[in-house]
Formats: sequence, C-alpha cells, structure tokens
Amino acid sequence: VNIAILKETKPHERRVALVPSLVPKLVKLGARLHMQAGAGEAIKLADATFKDVAIVKDRHTLVKDADVVLCVQPPALDVIDAMKEGSILICFVYAHKEPALVQRLLDRKITCFAMERLPRITRAQSMDALSSQSALAGYYAVQLGATHLARILPKLTTAAGAIGPAKVLVMGLGVAGLEAIATAHRLGAVVEGYDVRPETKEQALSLGATFVETGVDARGKGGYARELGADEKSKVAAVLTDHIQAADLVITTAAIPGHPSPKLIDKVQVAGMKAGAVIVDLSAEGGGNCEDTVPGETIRVGPVTIVAPLNVPSLLGEDASTLYAKNQFNLLALMLKDNVVTIDWDDEILAGTALTHAGRMMEPKPKAA
Ligand code: NAD
Repeated sequence: VNIAILKETKPHERRVALVPSLVPKLVKLGARLHMQAGAGEAIKLADATFKDVAIVKDRHTLVKDADVVLCVQPPALDVIDAMKEGSILICFVYAHKEPALVQRLLDRKITCFAMERLPRITRAQSMDALSSQSALAGYYAVQLGATHLARILPKLTTAAGAIGPAKVLVMGLGVAGLEAIATAHRLGAVVEGYDVRPETKEQALSLGATFVETGVDARGKGGYARELGADEKSKVAAVLTDHIQAADLVITTAAIPGHPSPKLIDKVQVAGMKAGAVIVDLSAEGGGNCEDTVPGETIRVGPVTIVAPLNVPSLLGEDASTLYAKNQFNLLALMLKDNVVTIDWDDEILAGTALTHAGRMMEPKPKAA
C-alpha cells in the first residue's frame, strides 16, 4: 500500500500528518511511505529524520500512485486532480467551507475520510483528532492568557507581603475547557467552570474547579449542547455577569456543532470587567464567544485584553503533529489488513467518518454553519 504524506500549504499551518516514531508501525502494516520534501520543516523535523520514507519534491508526483494520501488541512484542488481514482484521502475537511473541494472529490471518485466527522464513541477515542487537538488548545489558552496578564496565577508569599491567586473562569467545558481548568489549577489559580451541560459539573469539580450554577440545562444531541432561547440567555447572564467581572482571566471554548459560536459575553459585561483582565477566546474559528472578539487578533477594549487566536493546535505544532498522526494511524489501522486497504462499511467508525466515496456523498450530510 502506497501512502503519501503532503506538506501543508495553508498559511500558519505548522502540523504534519506523519512523525518519525510512527514510520516503523506503518511499515509493519505493509505501508510504503512517501513524503513531500520539507513536510516536517515547520516543526524542525528534517526530511532525513524520516528513515524508510521516500522523499518526493513534487506533490503531483507524490500523490499520483498513492493509495492513501494523508494531511492535516484539506489539500488544494490540483492535488485531488493528481490523485488516482478510487484512492483515499484522510484529513480535516469541514465540508461546508469547502464546496469546490467536495465536488472535486466526487468527480475524481476519491474516498475521503474527514477527521472531524469521526463518531465520538469510546472505541474511536484513539482516533479522535478533534479531542487531541482541543486538549492542546485548552492547555495553551491558559499559557496565552498568563502571558497577557500583568499578574501571576498562583498565590505568592514574599517577605514584602503576599499576593493572592488569580481568578480564572472557564466557559464551555468540553475537551478544551476541561484541559484549561486542569492547567489553570496546576498553575495555582482559583478556577471556576461553567457549561450548559449539567454533567460537566462533576468533571469540573474533579479537576479542582468550582462550578457556576445557572439553572439552565441545554443538553443537545450526541453529547453536545443546543442553542439557548432568549429567556435562558438572560437567566444565564444574570448569574454569570458577576463571575465574568470578578475574573482576572476568562477562557471561552463554547461551541455547538454546525452553528456559529454562541455569544457568552456581551459588550456590557466586558465593559464591567476588572482593569487588566484578559479573555482568551478559543472559539474564534466559529466567530467567537465574546461580542467584542475579533477572530485572529489580540485587541484592547478599554482596560481588557481579548485574545482570539486561530488554529491554536498549530501553535503547538510538535505535540499537535504527534497526536494527530497517531489519531490518523489508528484510523488507518482499521483499513489496512494484509497489506491491502479494505474498508468495512459496516464499521460505524469508517462509515461515519467517510465524507465521499465512489462519487457519492456519504450520510449524514455535512451541516451548513
Ligand atoms: P465542543 O467543542 O462542541 O463544545 C465545547 C463546550 O461548549 C461543550 O462542552 C458545550 O456543552 C459547551 N457549550 C455550548 N454552548 C454553550 C453555552 N451557551 N454556554 C456554555 N457552554 C456551552 O465540545 P467537545 O470538546 O467537542 O466535546 C463535546 C462532547 O463530546 C462532550 O460531551 C465530550 O465529553 C464528548 N466527547 C466524547 C468522546 C468519546 O466518548 N469518544 C470524545 C470526545 C468528546
């Protein structure tokens, strides 16, 4: 089985879909590996560190004979054109943002597995790139916030007197939010967590945070949240305003699949925040959780700093690549048997993750955002 690994081309994307430690494992499964020259460059992995991998300069030559093409971000259309009919592409797609790519995948009869479609079931956890990348982002949000604060997170006792711990509020307690709680707690902050799914309370408590009770339960389908109604929003705001305005650092991660980011912090709440407070908005990709957020920018609103980075996992490219490549390897291992690719369409992981196959869209169709 010929496997090709592309060099990423999207701006600021530092990740790579193969790391040297996985090469022997893939070779053991019968893979012949080919990688585009310089694919690991952004995380300082020279081509020579990939032993047993053929390095190919031109991306068209690279994918021409590949049975499987691996990358992180969706590739350019000319790559799809150069791929063999019936071959496999595995990467993040977010199909609603990539209509031209999807059409090309259908035209060229490429079987595409979109990493973001992977079912969130126990058996698929080792393949779950959304989770691995979110965990890193949650950790990094605390680091980013700390560097923008003019104060420290832990309590500090000195001969000149004591400084109390910073207050951190984490809003949205999925994978990223829980990792942010754990990180802020480890750094000595006093941490509060908030989510509309009640089951997150116990998780927040187990990581050392307290939980802000709003009395609103917005559990949606498949373990995700649903959008709040107007009444629910004002009920939540009545409770949360005090907590937002008492915090030194607010980290927001709230998301509802297929919808723009819910707005959890409005302009009035920002205006009442402490001088020097920082908001790190991890939902910038979906528009942001704060009304003042400018996706991709760090801005000042009065005495408050709002940091809204895009593609946070890529900022931790080395670890993000290691985990992403392992996620892809585990998915690939479901299809690679006796040196041939066999897709068992009765496997809910493969059927659920597939986006296109043999010129058809797979169900369920991707939701528009
Ligand atoms: P996500 O990125 O979709 O959303 C982040 C969080 O925002 C969620 O906890 C959500 O409840 C919350 N949120 C949405 N609207 C909100 C609002 N108005 N106010 C406050 N919070 C709001 O979440 P995710 O990290 O992808 O995780 C989603 C779910 O999937 C979780 O239940 C998680 O435990 C589950 N999960 C399961 C597995 C598995 O079993 N294999 C793997 C990963 C995640």
